[in-house]
Amino acid sequence: MDLDGVNIVRLQYADLHGVARGKDLPRSELEAVCEHGTPFVAAIMTTDLAHNVAAGFETGFEDIAARPDPETLVHVPWEPGVAACLADLWRMDRREPYGVDSRGALRRVLAEFEALELTPIAAPELEFYLCEPDEGSREGWKRYAGTDSPVYTVGAQSDPLGMLPKLLEASGALGLEPIAANHEYGRGQFELNVRHAPALTAADRAFRLKWLVKELAAREGLLATFIGKPWNDDEGSGFHLHLSLCDADRRNCCEDPDADDGLARVMRHFVAGVLAHAPALMAFFNPTVNAYRRLHPDALVPTQVCWGHDNRFTFVRIPRERGGATRLEVRVGDGSANPYLATAATLVAGLDGIRRELLPPKPLAGLIYELPEDEQGPPLPTSFPEALEALHADETLRAALGQELVETFVTLKEYELARFRRWVTDWEFREYARHL
Ligand code: GLU
Ligand code: MG
Repeated sequence: MDLDGVNIVRLQYADLHGVARGKDLPRSELEAVCEHGTPFVAAIMTTDLAHNVAAGFETGFEDIAARPDPETLVHVPWEPGVAACLADLWRMDRREPYGVDSRGALRRVLAEFEALELTPIAAPELEFYLCEPDEGSREGWKRYAGTDSPVYTVGAQSDPLGMLPKLLEASGALGLEPIAANHEYGRGQFELNVRHAPALTAADRAFRLKWLVKELAAREGLLATFIGKPWNDDEGSGFHLHLSLCDADRRNCCEDPDADDGLARVMRHFVAGVLAHAPALMAFFNPTVNAYRRLHPDALVPTQVCWGHDNRFTFVRIPRERGGATRLEVRVGDGSANPYLATAATLVAGLDGIRRELLPPKPLAGLIYELPEDEQGPPLPTSFPEALEALHADETLRAALGQELVETFVTLKEYELARFRRWVTDWEFREYARHL
């Protein structure tokens, strides 16, 4: 990228929550930082979202080095003179990557596909709510322009501040290759889709998309949230992950025109691997106590380990397109997922299916909850602790993502859960206090 006019480089990476952390560097420092990295305290990986450091005291909080990936340098369209750059995290001696870096974990998994001459291609679909200040409410926020049935309406009536055009333009300028933006089903709920790309670029796009939506919302005095179920009386927000594989000739190899359903063997193995690891994958796709409130049979989400053709209730949905667009969609996640971890974990699962030549059960069709119970597929975890238990039991996933990363993630999240277990929710007083 041409650095003309750039005074500041914003160096960013994802913490384990997927939150963008970083430093602003004077342009003159860039070269030295590319070589040596810039230090961050490792505590950034064990800090929860309520300002507590959950772990890491025993090592005295070492430094880690963030090193720019120059291929990701891009102008920040809404801040003239500022460029953004993604970083990879290394140990300070620069001899090896830092094991807790989620982008690094995705790189490690991708190297295994490369050895098989397969290139995973991905596309994130992220839904989110925009909220405006509401002094009167307990949370301080209400749904932005929250009219009824706003789905697929575009323009000033459901988006008086013109947020969608602003987000589309900014995401285009940031190189995210947006392809559509629309009002989703919920009141004040939106979705912005970006073009598919090799998996590392796709995860970078998802990470940057979340950052840019939150940034532009903040600049307008709004709050953007990607959590799965922000409101009791409205739709949840999903992070649907589309995945396909290309062969050594860079051609989609998921299709077999001679197969009944048009799917190649490698695709079947991949699907079977994803299903085999589904409960553990949820620890990364649904990493909050809130996420599990979104997952119930009345929503367009999975609650069972199953797959199907163009069925929005399944864990793995196979869209009808074939040829270069033959792909699968994992529908369980919500936007509280760290996109690097969710993508890396799904690829580990798919790779395990390929290596062990697993085959999926029969695909489900129709309203799956009307099928006999033993045909619906095993139930998914219904709470975050259950998903963490499944992750604990999944040695393949733990080994491939790295024990250091998984242990740090679990420690951080157990700390969050322990805080939640002690917290009295508003529901309890409302439900019990008057009568009991
Ligand atoms: N909002 C739904 C979810 O929570 C998905 C709707 C859709 O398929 O776009 O995943
Ligand atoms: Mg949607």
